[in-house]
Parts: sequence; C-alpha cells; structure tokens
Amino acid sequence: MNLTFLARLGIGKQNSGAFDGAWRKTRGGTLTVRSPIDGRSIGSVQLADAKDYAAVSQRAHATFLRWRELPAPQRGEFVRRIGNAFREHKEDLGRLVTLEAGKIVQEGLGEAQECIDIADFAVGLSRQLYGLTIASERPQHHMRETWHPLGTVGIVTAFNFPIAVWAWNSMLALVCGDACLWKPSLKTPLCAIAMTKIAALVLGKEWAPLVGLCIGPDLSVGSALLDDPRVPLVSATGSTRMGRIVGPRVAQRFGRTLLELGGNNAIAVMDDADLDLAVRAIVFGAVGTAGQRCTTTRRLLVHHKVADALQKRLVKAYAQCSIGNPMDKGTLVGPLVDEAAAKAFDHAVATAVQQGGKVVCGGKRAKVPRTLQGGAYVEPTIVRCDECIPIVKEETFAPILYVLPVRSLDEAIARNNDVPQGLSSAIFTRDVRAAERFLSATGSDCGIANVNIGTSGAEIGGAFGGEKETGGGRESGSDSWKAYMRRQTSTVNYGASLPLAQGIQFGAD
Ligand code: NAD
Repeated sequence: MNLTFLARLGIGKQNSGAFDGAWRKTRGGTLTVRSPIDGRSIGSVQLADAKDYAAVSQRAHATFLRWRELPAPQRGEFVRRIGNAFREHKEDLGRLVTLEAGKIVQEGLGEAQECIDIADFAVGLSRQLYGLTIASERPQHHMRETWHPLGTVGIVTAFNFPIAVWAWNSMLALVCGDACLWKPSLKTPLCAIAMTKIAALVLGKEWAPLVGLCIGPDLSVGSALLDDPRVPLVSATGSTRMGRIVGPRVAQRFGRTLLELGGNNAIAVMDDADLDLAVRAIVFGAVGTAGQRCTTTRRLLVHHKVADALQKRLVKAYAQCSIGNPMDKGTLVGPLVDEAAAKAFDHAVATAVQQGGKVVCGGKRAKVPRTLQGGAYVEPTIVRCDECIPIVKEETFAPILYVLPVRSLDEAIARNNDVPQGLSSAIFTRDVRAAERFLSATGSDCGIANVNIGTSGAEIGGAFGGEKETGGGRESGSDSWKAYMRRQTSTVNYGASLPLAQGIQFGAD
C-alpha cells in the first residue's frame, strides 16, 4: 500500500497524543495503530494521561477567554480558512479515513467533504447567530434574548466517523466563540492528529489551543473530561452504553451533554413502492460502511405482498457487492473495524438463527486474499424474520439486515417505533397519504424520517440526531448551534419609573 499521503498530513511513525497549542511530550503508554484493512501497524501514538489532559484543558480555557471577544464574523474567517485547508487535503484525508477506519475510499472522500461542508455552513452562521427581541409588558422597557459563547466544548468521537463528527462539532463551536477539546476513539487516533494539525496551522500560534486534543484511555483522559468543570458541554458520539455513563456523570456536575448514540434504523416498503429505488437505497443503507454507520439500515419492514419479490432482488444485489480492500476502486464492502466487531457479527447471526430467523444470504466471514487476512471481513447478511425476534431490537454494528413482513402502514409504523433507539427511518411509497402519515406526529418517532430515500447519508444542512436511546442531541445544521452557546434574557428599562412585572405593587400606597 502506498502510504506517502501520511507524511503530507503530518503523520509520522511516532506521534504525540496531546495538543495544547504545541504537541506535548505525553506520559501515557504507547498505542500501536493498526489498519483494519490488513491488521498491519501504520504508526504509533504516545498516549496522554490525566496530567496532560489538565494542561490541554487549561490552555483551551485560557484561549477561550480571549477568543469569545473576537466578533463572530472574524471567528468565521478563521473557519473559512480551515475549510479551505480541508479542501486542499481532501484526497489525503479521505484515504486516511479508509486506512484507519476501513470504509471504502468513496465514503472516506465523502466524509472529508462533510468536513468542508460544515465549515462552509459555519462561516455563514458566523453572521447569523441571531437572538430575539421580545415585547415587554412594562412601559419604556425592552426585552431581548442574546446568545453568548459557552466555554470549552468536550468532543468525544466514535471510530466510524473519525473526522466528520469532530468537524460537525468544532466548526460550529469555533464560530460560536468556544474552544474545543477532542477525545477521539483509540481506534482512529491518526485521523484526529491529522485534523488537529490542519486546523492548528490555520489558527496560528495565538489561537491553536482552541483545537485541543487528548488521546488517551477512557478511564483516565475520558473521566477527566467528563468531570472537568471548565467544560460546560460534552458532545459525545458513540454507543448507548457509553451514553449511559457520560450523561449522568456530566449531569452530576450540572454540565450539559449533547448525546449522539446508537441507532436501529428501519426502511418501510409499501406495496406501491418503486422497488428499483428501494433496492438501491436498502443496499446502500445496509451494506455501506460495512454496516458501521449509526444510520445503517438494520430493519426492512416490507409489505407482505412485495416481501418475497423484494427479498429476491436484494439477494441478487448483495451477490454483486464486492468485498475486499477498501482502497480498491471496485470494492463496495470493506472490513469491520476489528476482530471484536466480527465476533459481535458472528454472535448476532447465531442468536438470530437460534431465535427463529432464517439466514437468506451471507452470515459468514468473507473469503479474502491472503494479503487481507489480518482484517475482519464479513459477508453482508440478510436474515428473514417472519416474527419479530428479540435480537432485532439491538444494534449490532455490522452489515446484518433483518427482513420483517408487515400487513399495513399502521403495522409498519408500530414496528418502526418498537425499538429502544430512535435515530433514522424511511418509507418507500408512491402514496402521498402514507408518506405524510409516516412523517406526522403519529408516524415515525425518529429524529430523521425520510420518504423515498434511505436512512443513511444525511446532509449537513439539517439538524442531525435521534430520540430515545439515541440520546436526544442534535448537531450539524439548522439551529443546532444553540447547543454551543449560552442564552441570556435581558430587560432594559429606559424610563424613569420602576414598574414591576405582573403589576405587583411593592411598598406603594
Ligand atoms: P463507543 O461507545 O465504544 O466509543 C465512542 C467514544 O466514547 C470513544 O471515543 C470512546 O473512547 C468513548 N468512551 C467510551 N466509554 C467512555 C467513558 N466511560 N468515558 C469517556 N469516554 C468514553 O462507540 P464506537 O464503537 O466507537 O462507535 C460505534 C457506536 O457509535 C455505535 O453505537 C453507533 O451507532 C454510534 N454512533 C452514533 C452516531 C450518532 O450520530 N448518533 C454517530 C456515529 C456513531
């Protein structure tokens, strides 16, 4: 594999795991980074410990105190230049994502593009951090609501979007006047180092501590972040298991969290659906990123009249999905992130069968050339479940699609909602009534609900996130920026008397 792009991104054989404006000499152990493609070492990172964390947090906070005074459009100008730097490095970043997370190059490039897109969005936003004026009930008073910078935003990221999730958070946080402190997944530390280097170069010596980075274990660095009173917001993306720890722990100190957790996303296909469209969306949703997206399609709720026909077409399409090296152009399915993920896949397939599911295709480890045997490759899998079996309600981070026939739109909606998670959902139908019902208050209970497109591949312009065990957070577009600021309500009296609200007379005759 040609890895010359690593040097262009500033990645060496050995790398420091903490950045506080300068790369620190860290004190944690050495982490060997392995590519999921073939299990080979691609570098090492000297991990940070709790003392390194404290230094990074202190520098970030000190820099925040000055950054918040810079007018937002000037902060936006820095973000504009960071976005341009992402543009310059797009190809290399896409390849790094492929190398370290294992997704195919097209998806790696797509992830790099998302970083560019959110930077552009944030630049526009830097001139639109609007507040409100509110009619006061008192004469010669006015009320307004303004948004102020919040402080340092702690950003905890999952392995499967190793650059985009940080960009979604940090580009908004920077224009909002905040500093950032990133604790990435230990599975994808090189992506974090590359992104930090790009942003820090643009920010220059004065502002570089705004993109603090601390790569270290959850128990030391992770815990230090969760308990840090200088971090008013922790934006954490990952499993529901992680969210159950992070949410209460940050709340304990009255910090805020923005949680983006697991999904268990369904596509409903009605009997009038355009099946050509549905097949393409289902295959991309279920097989893309080897089933390792939070928005991956995991359940197919298909009208019983078209269930067999659709299943047949899916099996045919799955047979054409080439599994192999994600760096190769023709590959559609790369490896899972590691052997533990492949074991979870094996376990889920076995459990599904035990519970009464029938493997229609896939279900096994994939055969790959000897050069890739250090990676964990599995076959995209379809499991038919004529009854809803318990495993269907769990998120297994692998390409397993459960096919569940339904008899009506009502049943499809009920089944869609009958899982603990609430991230993404979709319906395929030509019937406007069915489509609108699916999007209505009595329809899908997910944060994302689509019509005639799949569950994955969201654009950055909309607010992204989900309900129930997905955590309730919203990031990226729309008004998600409000999570990164503090709201202030002000009343100004420009008269010469002091009328009280609610008409209260206090001490008057
Ligand atoms: P994970 O929960 O294992 O890890 C996510 C991050 O949380 C990592 O940085 C990890 O080090 C950190 N973490 C875990 N426990 C912690 C603790 N006790 N204290 C501090 N930090 C802790 O998840 P993963 O395997 O990296 O990613 C896959 C999961 O992420 C899936 O469940 C997927 O659905 C979810 N995900 C959700 C979204 C979303 O937007 N909803 C996006 C991407 C991934």
